Amino acid sequence: MNRSRYRMKKLSRRTPSGRTALLTKNKKPKQAHCALCRKPLAAVPRESRAGMAKLSATQRRPQRTFGGVLCGNCTAHVIKTRTRLQSGVTDETTVPLTLMKYVKMLKA
Ligand SMILES: [Zn+2]
Repeated sequence: MNRSRYRMKKLSRRTPSGRTALLTKNKKPKQAHCALCRKPLAAVPRESRAGMAKLSATQRRPQRTFGGVLCGNCTAHVIKTRTRLQSGVTDETTVPLTLMKYVKMLKA
């Protein structure tokens, strides 16, 4: 199927003259999910690129570290892991690789 057609949502609507017509609307993108635990992210609107452009920057994603990428629990986990690594409580071999990616991002 044509990629542009796939994005269209078909709706059956009654016109003022009484006949039914097929109305096509653009589908909304999927809800944003956490990159680590796949939980749906709160405070990230389901808007198209054009819809997002109309919002202010603070309405597009939470204004915290990894806002719009990781959920609050995972962000806390990453920050805790970073602190434990810095203080020498744990070493890098015990940290999962998926988590290590975000710990390294936080250091930079
Ligand atoms: Zn998460």
